[in-house]
Amino acid sequence: MLNFHPLQALQHLFLPHHCAGCGSDIINDEQILCLHCMDQMPLTAFHLHDNNPVEKIFLGRIPVVQAASYLYFSKDSLLQRIVHQLKYKGNKELGLFMGRKMGEALLQSGRFNNTDVLVPMPLFAARERKRGYNQALILCQGMAEVLKLPVLPDVIRRRRSSETQTHKNRIERWQNMQDKFELQQGNALVDKHILLVDDVITTGATLEACGRELLTTPGTRLSIMTMAYTVK
Ligand SMILES: [Zn+2]
Repeated sequence: MLNFHPLQALQHLFLPHHCAGCGSDIINDEQILCLHCMDQMPLTAFHLHDNNPVEKIFLGRIPVVQAASYLYFSKDSLLQRIVHQLKYKGNKELGLFMGRKMGEALLQSGRFNNTDVLVPMPLFAARERKRGYNQALILCQGMAEVLKLPVLPDVIRRRRSSETQTHKNRIERWQNMQDKFELQQGNALVDKHILLVDDVITTGATLEACGRELLTTPGTRLSIMTMAYTVK
């Protein structure tokens, strides 16, 4: 093999390279997922279509220009293993790889060409310290390589309510959910079309709350992209 670095060979000897999806070691060093797993990727193709299921989630809730998810998520699946590797196993290479695939999909669709900046869904500060990284930021970094857009990781902060939730009724709890995002550097967003990125969308409530706060900056428009979509 050309350009095969001796150190890489050594690393392979001690840390065999496995597919992040199925654990198979029938995989080249530069691959993250084996060919079998690549074939099994449950592509949604949502990014190609108006009024897709992710765009419908936000209808009547917040103004979203375009929205999509790259893959279907279901339990006991390849996607569950990928999300687990991304969130809990520190597999940043997999996150960058998935981000690049998401970026390629958006580029190919042409529907997202008018976005200006990538904003990762923030984690609570304590969780990010514990995990050591924000998986949505890793996805953004992979997307940025393909889309050639700046990533703005510090424009919005997620804060946990200091009050205990137990004595609140449902409406109060819901209102509490609504204001847990805080703009930090809103000036960087003025007149920008923001592409907000997260790993998985389920109800869309967190993306809605974050998007609502982002849209308080003058002249902003909002689009949304997630790696996975949960089939309800
Ligand atoms: Zn595999």
